[in-house]
Amino acid sequence: MVGETISTALAEVRAIYSELNRRTMQRHCRARTECCQFQLTGLTPHLTKGEALLAAKALRATGRKELPETDDGACPLLKRETGKCLIYADRPFGCRTHFCAVAGGPYARKEVIDLIRRLEDLDVRLKGDGPRKIISAVTAALAELH
Ligand code: SF4
Repeated sequence: MVGETISTALAEVRAIYSELNRRTMQRHCRARTECCQFQLTGLTPHLTKGEALLAAKALRATGRKELPETDDGACPLLKRETGKCLIYADRPFGCRTHFCAVAGGPYARKEVIDLIRRLEDLDVRLKGDGPRKIISAVTAALAELH
């Protein structure tokens, strides 16, 4: 990886997520996982490369080498047996700022635009292709991590 090690990239993504958590906007994710049901919401998170690498690393930490195979249209990172996100602490930005009415609705883009820019800048430095749908983004990141 040219110009940026994976470890510094992951640290930058985690710093961005931490900054989001410190913002005063009130959001209360209750882990109801309704936003993880892509087949119902019609919406799928898109990940920049740094986010995808962090998600892939977190998935590896669960002992998995690949995304679980699924055919129900929900996020493959949603553990069916427990109804919980496999990588909740490292879940992507879109999963934190989404459209969930229960959690308080979506952030206005202007509220988080600086953080989006940081993720986009990191994507460029990592030679990413811009935000990609979660499955293809994490699949590519897993291949890159080896
Ligand atoms: S990464 Fe986790 S929080 Fe995000 S959609 Fe998938 S299961 Fe849900």
